[in-house]
Amino acid sequence: MASGLQSYCKPCVLAYEREKYGGSCRKPGARSRYYRQTYGLTLEQLDELAERQGRRCAICSKESQLVVDHDHDTGEIRGLLCPQCNRCLGLFQDNVGLLVAATMYLMAAKDVLVEAGGLRG
Ligand SMILES: [Zn+2]
Ligand SMILES: [Zn+2]
Repeated sequence: MASGLQSYCKPCVLAYEREKYGGSCRKPGARSRYYRQTYGLTLEQLDELAERQGRRCAICSKESQLVVDHDHDTGEIRGLLCPQCNRCLGLFQDNVGLLVAATMYLMAAKDVLVEAGGLRG
């Protein structure tokens, strides 16, 4: 169960531990400390980011409790996502090739490629 955790980057480990030790922060200031420690973000910056996205998920545009999505190699913040989309990227290991392949698969299944025409030359 614990194995594999070492493959997570710092923000992931911090998020994991935060959940393990009781999820929501009770102490005032704990939330801002969490984002500063984990992502190097102030709550103001976080809010600005959310505002820039219209407080919607960057993928599905759903209004939701947004979570910070980050590049696990660099720790760099990519944007804010709903928990579902964020989890989805995680399941695909942020692998663009896999995500494109999944898209192609779904499109092919719906015959969208044929209807769109010309995509196969
Ligand atoms: Zn989403
Ligand atoms: Zn990570």
